[in-house]
Amino acid sequence: MRRDCDLNKISDGKRYLLNDMVKADCNGCKDCSVCCHDMGTSIVLDPLDFYRISHFLNRSFETMLDSQIELNIVDGLILPNLKMTETLNKPCVFLNDSNRCSIHPYRPGICRIFPLGRLYENNSFSYILQVNECPNEQKSKIKVSKWIDTPDLNQNQQFIADWHFFLKELHERLLAQGNEECIKKATMQLLQFFYIEPYSSEEDFYTQFYMRLLHMKKLFI
Ligand code: SF4
Ligand code: SF4
Repeated sequence: MRRDCDLNKISDGKRYLLNDMVKADCNGCKDCSVCCHDMGTSIVLDPLDFYRISHFLNRSFETMLDSQIELNIVDGLILPNLKMTETLNKPCVFLNDSNRCSIHPYRPGICRIFPLGRLYENNSFSYILQVNECPNEQKSKIKVSKWIDTPDLNQNQQFIADWHFFLKELHERLLAQGNEECIKKATMQLLQFFYIEPYSSEEDFYTQFYMRLLHMKKLFI
């Protein structure tokens, strides 16, 4: 989800890379689950997020749409996001009774990096430390790569950038064409290719993703 805002107002103004130390470690988030409440539609799932969660829960896209995810317009395209429950303080559907994440090893990338955020520039991205989001004032320094706790890190970082800039390019192409039918078709294909059509757990996720990306680019870019 793109945001137009002053970097100095939302962060400490620095850009962080994987080997940098950043004051983001919340030391186990003891007794806090603030960032798992009332997040609106902001926890947007990329295809890897969806693959991980749906395989862990053994649920299809359609089944998850019943209660755990919803579709919203994000930067001109329709994408899934995690649902917040309509109860007091609006907890995420995956927050358990002990106020802990019930899908912690499979949590989405946005949750993984919090309170860091991503800053996309020049076909790549860096991390920023968001300063208004997490109330823990006793954070410790930690290496970015350790904090984001993501397997296959280099491959993953490339995937994050490729997915972001693909969505941006697709949206720009569709806007330029201005053809309602084409926009509708691309929107449906995007969901079908990257979310609805199941990924095999026997094959590497990234290989499957890049085949789908190539196909989608051939059709619409
Ligand atoms: S708001 Fe900060 S301390 Fe609280 S759960 Fe989130 S990351 Fe942890
Ligand atoms: S998926 Fe887990 S970490 Fe992310 S908002 Fe929901 S409960 Fe919190």
